[in-house]
Amino acid sequence: MSDASRKVVIVGGGLTGLSAAFYIRKFYKEKGCKPEITIIEKDKVLGGKIETLHRDGFVIEKGPDSFLARKTAMVDLAKELEIDHELVTTNPEAKKTYIVNQGRLHPMPSGLVLGVPTEIGPFLRSGLVSWSGKLRALTDLVRAPRKSTEDESLGNFIERRLGAEVLSNMTEPLLAGIYAGDTYRLSLQSTFPQFGEMERKYGSLIKGMMTGKKPVETHTGTKKSAFLTFRQGLQSLVHALVHDLDDVEQRLESAVIAVEPRSGEQAGYEVVLASGERVAADDVVVTTPAFAAADLLRPLVDVTELDAINYVSVANVVLAFEREDVSGSFDGSGFLVPRKEGRNITACTWTGVKWLHTSPEDKMLLRCYVGRFGDEEKVSYPDEELIALVRKDLRELMNITAEPLFAEITRLPKSMPQYPVNHLRHIAEFRSRLDRMLPGIYATGAAFEGVGLPDCIRQAKELAGQMADRLAR
Ligand SMILES: Cc1cc2nc3c(=O)[nH]c(=O)nc-3n(C[C@H](O)[C@H](O)[C@H](O)COP(=O)(O)OP(=O)(O)OC[C@H]3O[C@@H](n4cnc5c(N)ncnc54)[C@H](O)[C@@H]3O)c2cc1C
Repeated sequence: MSDASRKVVIVGGGLTGLSAAFYIRKFYKEKGCKPEITIIEKDKVLGGKIETLHRDGFVIEKGPDSFLARKTAMVDLAKELEIDHELVTTNPEAKKTYIVNQGRLHPMPSGLVLGVPTEIGPFLRSGLVSWSGKLRALTDLVRAPRKSTEDESLGNFIERRLGAEVLSNMTEPLLAGIYAGDTYRLSLQSTFPQFGEMERKYGSLIKGMMTGKKPVETHTGTKKSAFLTFRQGLQSLVHALVHDLDDVEQRLESAVIAVEPRSGEQAGYEVVLASGERVAADDVVVTTPAFAAADLLRPLVDVTELDAINYVSVANVVLAFEREDVSGSFDGSGFLVPRKEGRNITACTWTGVKWLHTSPEDKMLLRCYVGRFGDEEKVSYPDEELIALVRKDLRELMNITAEPLFAEITRLPKSMPQYPVNHLRHIAEFRSRLDRMLPGIYATGAAFEGVGLPDCIRQAKELAGQMADRLAR
């Protein structure tokens, strides 16, 4: 087979699919191959979970709202697309985050990194954990480390090292924001592998985090910020990709319903659309959520490992206010709500303060999150009911009684993948089976090795590199 030209079909046009198209085109061309790439997306627009709304001078994110600066794949891509000048940092004045404990907002002690205390003084002074809970956590400094590299659950690990109280009052609410999950079901290796490495290397999680703690510099200037976004919202990146990929066929409102091997002696596949149309492909890159990938591949290969990845449904309710109507001090970026508090919301970002570009000066934007593992039914409540539940929590926790100027609700059913214990091993087994049985079909994206936006780009780029390495071997 000549690799001078190759038909590549990408199923799913979220950030993974778009980045895959970008890097496959780049790396194939570098190898002298002219790829014919088609992105097939079932929705009306590209971008998947990323969607920015511009309304009355506000920049409102309906899905993800920012990304981790230290994971460089996103900034690297922004540079390649020449939109890195649009990157913005969080408001340096809004560093504080609060956590609710027994119905009251407590500042997160300084030095808490990913929910792990790295400064003993502020941790001991915090009102978030009882004295016995604090002493239990500090036994991490002398507790014998587990030597095994076997995976375990994140909840089990944190409880083992820092105790159940720190887990429920500090670590879980912080980490739940990323996975909306049950920490006792999430894989440590697939979510925070650095925790296990620190235990093995330093004998203690706290010592390891203290040693590893470094200030995070953005790539955009001298200001420090752990998170970044784009001035006009994350959709800027999607628009830039879509524009740059103008030589790539982009098919919208086209659900893929099957992938079939080409008939006869021909190598390659046919991608079957809901309309009945069949698109020929040498390579097929599936970037859909795991449950959709499983449905497509099930007739061809065992998909047990994909079936094992559950998804949690969440919603976010964005409320806009007149600034003068919400008299709270807003001296931070928002607050997190531990599961044990039994509230409707799981977190609230004071978006108008944390991200200054998102709101006119005399207005305030609050973004409240609803839904987590075991508490998902509210996500599908009717709008009025959902808004009332969110406003009840804001009234009780922040004394906000004002009528919002408007509310924007986004429901994201089955949107947060839950990596089960041993996920990495399962995924490796699945991929090696896929490669053996269906060479030329690949699966990647948020279901696999990282849910964050930079993780999705990194995975797409790595896969594109591996695919290019296989050309004309
Ligand atoms: C509420 C929420 C908040 C988040 N916040 C952040 C954040 O602040 N920062 C961060 O880094 N990450 C965040 N994430 C995670 C991040 O948004 C996602 O992991 C990432 O956007 C996933 O991109 P993807 O391309 O892999 O998948 P998706 O965006 O899900 O794209 C997959 C695409 O496949 C399409 N598709 C599915 N089935 C088919 C089919 N049969 N045929 C054709 N097309 C199909 C879908 O329509 C979709 O467009 C958040 C996620 C959620 C849900």
